[in-house]
Amino acid sequence: MSYAALATRTAVVTGAASGIGEATARLLAAGGARVALLARRTDRLDALAAEIVAAGGQALAVTTDLTDQASVDAAVKTVHDAYGAVDLVVNNAGVMLPNPLADGRLDEWTRMIDTNLTGVLRIVRAFTADLTAAGDEGRTADLVNISSIASHIVFPDYAVYGATKAAVTQLSNALRTELGPRDVRVSAIEPGLTATELDTHIDNPALREQLGGMFAAIPPMSAEDIADLIAYTVTRPRHVNLRHLVALPTRQA
Ligand code: NDP
Repeated sequence: MSYAALATRTAVVTGAASGIGEATARLLAAGGARVALLARRTDRLDALAAEIVAAGGQALAVTTDLTDQASVDAAVKTVHDAYGAVDLVVNNAGVMLPNPLADGRLDEWTRMIDTNLTGVLRIVRAFTADLTAAGDEGRTADLVNISSIASHIVFPDYAVYGATKAAVTQLSNALRTELGPRDVRVSAIEPGLTATELDTHIDNPALREQLGGMFAAIPPMSAEDIADLIAYTVTRPRHVNLRHLVALPTRQA
């Protein structure tokens, strides 16, 4: 699908080093958007930026750790210095670290909350003024938060991950009440099984195997499938807010 309306947009995509973020950055840039790529792995961001530029697009690699406010502050300055204000923010970075609650993995809980929730909030804090200014000027402005089907369906041993994603969906609902009147659209997208690197950080062999079994039994969506939904969402007429999308592989019913 062609997304020509993207040509005037300036975007930030977090978690652009792999998976859904990488595919989204590539698709937004192919539509003509200038795209700032945020994540921790500089080599991956540099390679993606080079690929986008080689294809005639515009991209800026910005190494960022969303769990570190100084790193986020530096990234925001880099984005603003290079591109000025942005009008499209995709809050996508996240980690999924399942384990039984009884194991008490405070290390994993902290990492998930810091990345999936506080990281999202740091980005909202950094770019809300840009988005409301765009809305006030009559331009299209979007905040897209990547939540998960785990926000409202319970998966055993994924309690804290699910809790962070429920928070992202509810945060999106609440932000809509503040930003909608300023003509900023807020969308929460909740994917189901999607083939990315997300499962590679699971350190519990049984849970890795269990998830591997699900991927074997259910043909997953691709990162490009979700990127396509994001690009579709942000290219509707500016008075149309696709506010809550749940996208599952057909066999994940
Ligand atoms: P990936 O692991 O491929 O992508 C996650 C991205 O987040 C990476 O680019 C990673 O880059 C980045 N990231 C992680 N931690 C940080 C951090 N501290 N600071 C900055 N960037 C960070 O998985 P997905 O593409 O699947 O995940 C994208 C989003 O989609 C996540 O929020 C996930 O919860 C959600 N989701 C995924 C589903 C799936 O089945 N795959 C289903 C439902 C939701 P780096 O390591 O370089 O920092």
